[in-house]
Amino acid sequence: MDTTKTCKKCNETKGLNEFYKNSKNKDGHDTKCIECEKARVRELVLANPDYYKEKNRRWKSKNHERYLEYMTEWNANNFHKRAASRNRYRAKNYGVLSTVVEADLLHLIDVYGWKCMVCQTEENLSWDHINPMSKGGTDTPDNLQILCVNHNSQKGTKMIDHRPSLNVG
Ligand SMILES: [Zn+2]
Ligand SMILES: [Zn+2]
Repeated sequence: MDTTKTCKKCNETKGLNEFYKNSKNKDGHDTKCIECEKARVRELVLANPDYYKEKNRRWKSKNHERYLEYMTEWNANNFHKRAASRNRYRAKNYGVLSTVVEADLLHLIDVYGWKCMVCQTEENLSWDHINPMSKGGTDTPDNLQILCVNHNSQKGTKMIDHRPSLNVG
């Protein structure tokens, strides 16, 4: 079995582990490499900031009081600031790039809402690295997702991107 694959987008031949798993394809992997897929998602968000802001605004207004309550509580505990510095420390141990600061986390919350990307719960949430730092994943905004502790531990050290699908319009 082939252990490399040529990305349809950038035409680079890379290891299979540099492609997301996709059971729809014969070799069980995406046709685009992870780098290209990430770039695509980034572009979609950048091209449609209003779409995601609006989606999240609707969610916030529906859950307004609870949202404020949680945000106040978290800010009081410096939850995100602490998460950022904890990850920076871990990244150093793993020898991977770390750029995330508190403002990046707050920005991601603005785009996605502070809720589990799998079950939508608003309790016991955590920041998860899509490609775990222990496997060489970077501590950068494009590698972060929001998961409840249950879904975070279910995911473990697998690379699963739970970010909402960005099929716009
Ligand atoms: Zn590619
Ligand atoms: Zn969950």
